[in-house]
Amino acid sequence: MLGRKERDQLELFITGSLRQLIPSDHILVRVDAVLDLSWLRDEIAELYCLDNGRPCIDPEAALRLMLAGFLLGIVHDRRLMREAAVNIAIRWFAGYSLHEGLPDHSSLTRIRQRWGAERFRRIFERTVRACVAAKIATGEIVHVDASLIRAHVSWDSLAVRHIEAVEEANIDDSFPDDRQRGKSKKICVTDPDATMATNGRNRRLEPSYKQHTAVDDVAGVIVDVEVTTGEQNEGMAVAAQLDAIATTTGTPLAIVTMDAGYAYAKVFRSLEDRKIEGIVPAKAEQPPRKVIPTRRFKFDARHNLVRCPRGKILRPMGKLQRGAFQYFHARGKDCAACPLKARCVSPSRHARIAVFNVNHPSLLRARRKRLGWGKREERLYQRHRWRVEGVHGEAKTWHGLARAIRRGLNNMRIQAFLAAAVINLKRLAAAFLTLILVLLTASTPSMRTNAFSTV
Ligand code: SF4
Repeated sequence: MLGRKERDQLELFITGSLRQLIPSDHILVRVDAVLDLSWLRDEIAELYCLDNGRPCIDPEAALRLMLAGFLLGIVHDRRLMREAAVNIAIRWFAGYSLHEGLPDHSSLTRIRQRWGAERFRRIFERTVRACVAAKIATGEIVHVDASLIRAHVSWDSLAVRHIEAVEEANIDDSFPDDRQRGKSKKICVTDPDATMATNGRNRRLEPSYKQHTAVDDVAGVIVDVEVTTGEQNEGMAVAAQLDAIATTTGTPLAIVTMDAGYAYAKVFRSLEDRKIEGIVPAKAEQPPRKVIPTRRFKFDARHNLVRCPRGKILRPMGKLQRGAFQYFHARGKDCAACPLKARCVSPSRHARIAVFNVNHPSLLRARRKRLGWGKREERLYQRHRWRVEGVHGEAKTWHGLARAIRRGLNNMRIQAFLAAAVINLKRLAAAFLTLILVLLTASTPSMRTNAFSTV
């Protein structure tokens, strides 16, 4: 017999909690079990007047709406609030009943602006500390990598800016080759914080931000995340990130793995200064050029001099450039009598100048260490790939990090902190579920520990 469903019948009464209508394995139900935001009111209390004005949206409800959006990959406020109107799981997670009016989408924008990026960073750090307390992160072995995020601008908003003035201010007259005129670069007029960057030789430049992510080795918990403009070199953000990880987790870092994009003298020096073991492969060799490359010159750190391929000595001259680079000059009479002069010295000069980073000894030590990598180092570097690159893929595929939602560095940072926070909450929820299963198997009455309610 053909059945018929009556669709227009009104509900007279609905009793019980919305929770009863949501499956227990729903991601919002599982995250709710490990989420305690009772500290949030104190955290943001100073931003609101205590005895005057219209009451604001409950901060916990606002944050729960944002977290629900990132957990479900609905990262645009307008779409999120439309979805929340009909999605009982989001309503229940944020604390709204079935007939209760939801905040306007613009309220979430104003809340983000009022709280600022640093408060969202602290929310993210709470998730890290909760993971450490739950023993799914230790902060001892960490994998660091960077990933580009496409900025929220159209190609039409790109303009070409001539940078001759900048070049003029930075040109060193002792290097005539540096005087290349007519260089220009594109800027985003609608989002000047984003810069043109690419992550591959054969990929086109795109207006981007760069997320620098540190992932713990134990269970893939994100222990630090920071965002810079797209063109910033990976190595520039490392030192601050190493310190931030140790502060957040409360444990000194022992081992850090990075890819070849970080194989700079400055990065190795940062690791040495902090007594951290670096697992970093060497950069790919440059293709042979007509001139004899600087790597053929041997740096003698003890005597602060350089020996050329013919064994002649180059001595330091002048001040440090940009605080890190030292010029070493060969003697004119050595080069004049040298058979390699045509391949070694620029036609406009009479002797070779080699430039070395002051941290070059650290780079040399790291290169020697790389030659002695054993199974342990290879294994750790293999884990680097699937740990940190897997997290980038997860954030971009499921949590809205493939593209910036809003413009400006602060908005991008908030987006990255929220995406990292929900990934950590997922890890925490998974660990909690495992603990429940273990406890149920062992028939232990207490199923919830304090470790899981500290976010
Ligand atoms: S040209 Fe000068 S610096 Fe170069 S290899 Fe000869 S002596 Fe050394």
